[in-house]
Amino acid sequence: MARYTEAVCRLCRREGLKLYLKGERCYTEKCGISRRAFVPGQHGQGRRNKPSEYGLQLREKQKARRIYGVLESQFRRYFKEADRRKGVTGENLLRLLELRMDNVVYRLGLAASRAEARQLVRHGHFNVNGRKVSIPSYQVSPGEVITVRPGSSDKGRFKDLAELLRNQGTVEWLEVDRQALSGRVVRLPAREEIDVPITEHLIVELYSR
Ligand code: SF4
Repeated sequence: MARYTEAVCRLCRREGLKLYLKGERCYTEKCGISRRAFVPGQHGQGRRNKPSEYGLQLREKQKARRIYGVLESQFRRYFKEADRRKGVTGENLLRLLELRMDNVVYRLGLAASRAEARQLVRHGHFNVNGRKVSIPSYQVSPGEVITVRPGSSDKGRFKDLAELLRNQGTVEWLEVDRQALSGRVVRLPAREEIDVPITEHLIVELYSR
């Protein structure tokens, strides 16, 4: 499956803000954007012209893609589905991205970053309502319960996780059982509960051109 394989800190530097793509490292002084706070590339430190309207819309879409780790074609499919659904298209789009299985695993605190969550899902460490799901883009529905599989809970990443999770808060639309290493989607997230720095109407405008 196609995926981005270059240095991910470049993506934050390109967007000019922390996208938190590397888990714990993002909270240390090793963070790439703290050390080199300019756009990557040969002309990264040169003077920049004011971005056009199209440029602003494009950057917003790229930022969203990078935060959730979604490739262009898949992102376009999410937009089509968001547009097809009732309600505000931009909010529908963010909701679809938030309900991806890898994002929910990350939000539950079972992985340090969305990239790690994606890998753990792909390696088959989780059940949804008792059945193994290893597709990171799986759309989790309200009421579904994600659990670390019995064979996985006592090894590697999950061994001391119950202890680590004890001090960690979670978002209100999810319910976590720290002891059982599981979590449930209680309801769909409201826009104000999705704390990503994205102005979604710019993405809608981009795709409506
Ligand atoms: Fe972005 Fe994290 Fe790299 Fe910092 S360490 S630049 S937040 S991916």
